[in-house]
Amino acid sequence: MSYYDKKKRHIELSNLLKSYSKQYYIFDDPSVSDSEYDLLYKELLEIEEEFPELKTSDSPSQTVGAKILKNSKKVTHATPMLSLENAYSEEDISNFIDRVRKILKTENIDWVLEPKLDGLSASIIYKNGVLVSASTRGDGTVGEDVTPNVLSVDCIPKKIEKTPSNIEIRGEIVMLKSDFQQLNKQREEKGEKLFANPRNAAAGSLRQLDSRITASRKLTFFAYSMISDSKDIATQIDVLNVLKSFGFTVSDNIMLCKNQAEAFEFYKQIERQRSELEYDIDGMVYKVNDLSFQRKLGASTKFPRHSIAYKFPAEKAQTTVLNIITQVGRTGSITPVAELKPVTVGGVVVSRATLHNKDEVEKRDIRVGDRVVLQRAGDVIPQILYPILNERPTNSVPFNFPMTCPCCESALIKEEKEVAIKCINLNCKAQLLERLKHFVSKSAFNIEGLGEQNVRFLFENEIVKSPVDIFYIEERNKELHIENADGWGKQSVENLFKSINAARTISLDRFIYSLGIPQVGRAVSKLIANFFQTYSHFLDCIKNREGKKLSEIHGIGFSIANDFSTFFDNENNLKIIQELCGDGISRGVIDVIGIESFEKNIFSGQSIVFTGSFKKFSREEAKRLAEKFGGRAASSVSSKTSLLVAGEGAGQKLNQAKELGIKIVSEDDFIKIISTSEE
Ligand code: NAD
Repeated sequence: MSYYDKKKRHIELSNLLKSYSKQYYIFDDPSVSDSEYDLLYKELLEIEEEFPELKTSDSPSQTVGAKILKNSKKVTHATPMLSLENAYSEEDISNFIDRVRKILKTENIDWVLEPKLDGLSASIIYKNGVLVSASTRGDGTVGEDVTPNVLSVDCIPKKIEKTPSNIEIRGEIVMLKSDFQQLNKQREEKGEKLFANPRNAAAGSLRQLDSRITASRKLTFFAYSMISDSKDIATQIDVLNVLKSFGFTVSDNIMLCKNQAEAFEFYKQIERQRSELEYDIDGMVYKVNDLSFQRKLGASTKFPRHSIAYKFPAEKAQTTVLNIITQVGRTGSITPVAELKPVTVGGVVVSRATLHNKDEVEKRDIRVGDRVVLQRAGDVIPQILYPILNERPTNSVPFNFPMTCPCCESALIKEEKEVAIKCINLNCKAQLLERLKHFVSKSAFNIEGLGEQNVRFLFENEIVKSPVDIFYIEERNKELHIENADGWGKQSVENLFKSINAARTISLDRFIYSLGIPQVGRAVSKLIANFFQTYSHFLDCIKNREGKKLSEIHGIGFSIANDFSTFFDNENNLKIIQELCGDGISRGVIDVIGIESFEKNIFSGQSIVFTGSFKKFSREEAKRLAEKFGGRAASSVSSKTSLLVAGEGAGQKLNQAKELGIKIVSEDDFIKIISTSEE
């Protein structure tokens, strides 16, 4: 790959990772698995290692979390809330320890090992012993104000006796495995979408607009750090003891280790106990015990240099395959799924695992009756790794992939170059139902009250056969009286109508996503919406059969453009759009407006100070650029400053910004940030 191609790929990766991070950190609804995210992140790091000039200050390799939404209430952290560097082997840990010893010029270092809790970090501020504010990490500099929600978490002290006048406590908000199971059970009973894991459940529960919902979910806060001007606290162990004395919950699985061997033994011990712990952890954090050493080591923009997370390998378990069934997806792909004897892996009871496709199930030869090893890597989907062949029942037979659709019995097709076997009957009921579920899902029309069970009810009773029918339910209900059906009731029907009416106005990116075009997920829908900007441009393109021009968009290749254009070659899909949005003669049932802010408002709500002299723009232009991207140019540095752009000869303001821990970028970095977001 040439430098130009690598640079292009770098921009593509940065944009993708930023968009995934936003879904993960801000909407608590990841678009990809952690391992997929980690793979792209690794590719980004490799490119930056080869071309360090691409490592701009806004690269995902240099930033923490994601920026919070424009309209959220913000809290600026007095001390940045950072991420943690990861280690995956004893060798990584040895290298880290050597690095620390070199900086501290001593071999004599005590280590505190703490579980790396899998939740979301929170900062809680107490003034004169009273809890006054709580926030999430956000992008490390600005977090989201979650004070009312944190006040509703039982185990967090609302008042602390005998404290220094101002203290900040940091720790992790998690959901205990037992509370998570209970919550998912309740959601299942109500036909609501299940949380994939305790971390997502904790994040989704904390960041509720209505703190009563947070209060109804059981959250636990584990404290692990304290920022105060107290001179009596000299070590991390002291910090933990003080936190306990203040009434905070501190993990029991913590040990002070004098050397690497002791630390490694403890790491192994906790790894063995991991599945029995009451909370999910994904590794152990090694921390330098002595706080004066910690201060000396300092931090990079992303990680403290005194701590590292030694990640555990993914959790594994064994179980038996009870059956293998096939499911029809919304695009007609047939997916084999193993039904398993329920087993707990990483706090989640797993009773099904995808076997992906025909080739995969044949290649791996997983059979009904097999004992299999299962893995759950921190997040969403558990995978079957392999069958234990020496325990295979003697009468077992290979899985026979069906020749016809398990729903409509049409013959199945395998298209050239595709792995998926498909049912191409567009009227196949299983596909119609899946498309409806996708249409109302959270990232699409987000219609509350239309969980799996209710969509199935409306579909099976032929009340909703196509997306447009959803918007006529209220009118038709004058005769239907859904409220009298089992499992409904007056209130739930009224709530449903409210959320359907609220969904009548939708942004273009969500609308494109809702259509369920193959390969057009959330990130791609945003890119497409950003390209068209308005619904009428989008409609012109599909009416004129110009879908292939999508390949001009950065991040979209020919294959996606082809799927997009094929989707609209089907007159029925165009018809659905016109029924929804109107066809110029009759008015539709929804309005598609603008786009949800993507990367355009990169400086949204931020106060930017320019200092020193610049070669590429005047002060006036700098001000306009800041405004063009949603920010505001300010003349002086304060704790409210979000970014300082330092030109040549920058002096006092640069020093002030450094002291306040404000993000500082050069003129070139600033140009790179805005040009990346314009592409
Ligand atoms: P991280 O969550 O892996 O580690 C840093 C955090 O660990 C700290 O901020 C702190 O909150 C926490 N922590 C837990 N126990 C601690 C302890 N005892 N002491 C100190 N800190 C402790 O890092 P990150 O940067 O927040 O997240 C990166 C991970 O998130 C990646 O592995 C990635 O897979 C995942 N991610 C996934 C997606 C996705 O779309 N699936 C998107 C973004 C990030």
